[in-house]
Amino acid sequence: MSEFREVILCKYGELVLKGANLSFFESLLVKEMKARARRHGKFNIYHVQSTLYIEPLEEDCDLDGMLASARRVFGIVGITRAAVAEKNMEDILRVAKGYLPAQMVGKRTFRVDAKRADKKFPLPSPEIAGEVGGALLSVNPKWKVDLHEPDCRIRVEIRETAAYIHADQEKGAGGMPIRSNGRGLLLLSGGIDSPVAGYMMAKRGVEIEALHFESFPYTSERAKEKVMQLASELCEYCTKIHVHVISLTHIQEELRDKCEEDYFTLLLRRFMMTLAERCARTYKCGALITGESLGQVASQTMEALNVTNEVVNIPVFRPCIGMDKEEIVQIARQIGTFETSILPYEDCCTVFTPRHPRTRPVLEKVLAQQAKVDFDALVEEAWNTMYTETCTLKEER
Ligand code: ATP
Ligand code: MG
Repeated sequence: MSEFREVILCKYGELVLKGANLSFFESLLVKEMKARARRHGKFNIYHVQSTLYIEPLEEDCDLDGMLASARRVFGIVGITRAAVAEKNMEDILRVAKGYLPAQMVGKRTFRVDAKRADKKFPLPSPEIAGEVGGALLSVNPKWKVDLHEPDCRIRVEIRETAAYIHADQEKGAGGMPIRSNGRGLLLLSGGIDSPVAGYMMAKRGVEIEALHFESFPYTSERAKEKVMQLASELCEYCTKIHVHVISLTHIQEELRDKCEEDYFTLLLRRFMMTLAERCARTYKCGALITGESLGQVASQTMEALNVTNEVVNIPVFRPCIGMDKEEIVQIARQIGTFETSILPYEDCCTVFTPRHPRTRPVLEKVLAQQAKVDFDALVEEAWNTMYTETCTLKEER
């Protein structure tokens, strides 16, 4: 830690967090932050005046690590490290002169803004800013004030608790606090798209529950471990994810033996959606979430999506639907799932894939093929193979 007492301040933008919901959102944010803090040391975490405070309580707290974790908390719009000063100008100037130069390395111009949440503080904001700016110029006369396009924005915040001084606030993860917008069941494959879809809905405040379909022995144990790994990586944003696993092996063998090859994928997807809806209802999820993207593969044409959607009666969120693969890959890289997603293990959807899948299926024909197997009995049998594993945020330092 530096010689100045530092804290992390997280701002959660009052716009999305209005009215009666505010205290509910705040308690969710504090809970999320506390879950992440454990691995970085002992911190005091609380909220005052639309700001979340993260105060280290021990010398060896890892503030950089905490900052990295705080960047992944949805609902936070701005984050910064700040030095704490007593609420008098003498101490504020002492801290500003000692603390800020290290934050301003490589910057030539700056501006100072002051904000008085504590109106009892004797000096008005412009004068606080003026004095701090003057003090900085006395430390390094090469610095220049630029009010319009400064390299560095310095803020002095006089709050109820103390005075806080910091340079450039960075952007937070944005979105809405996790668990503030219901629960959704993510159909999680080992691919690139579905983890991104889960991330995007989590960002809108949806608590993520996951469902994975395996097809053992056609898919391997390692393919399933890869999915668990992806779920753990998503836990950096979601804290905790239950992953339900259902075997499709017998369904796939039945489809292979009894139905026209061109319809395998479509029929399989109807089974998957049916089982997913049942899982969602069992675990109180209000929607399914998939990584489908329009036109990406044969089963993702508008006609094919309609045929698979027709079998369920629950909203299906497809946040990747309008995205190019490149855009999805970019998010996968940014959230840290990409490298895992490209590990080369097979998925149940790649077992018995038709050579000429139907891209413009007609529902009646699909239903005629589906009638060749005992749909309900196969669903029941697959449902009974379900087991659940829980992934959580890694706690070790
Ligand atoms: P992804 O990259 O997410 O695997 P994809 O482009 O490979 O998607 P498909 O394999 O057709 O497309 O799958 C479409 C969607 O169906 C996936 O995004 C996922 O939500 C769901 N899905 C596919 N396979 C599985 C599986 N084995 N378990 C659970 N869901 C699956
Ligand atoms: Mg896939």
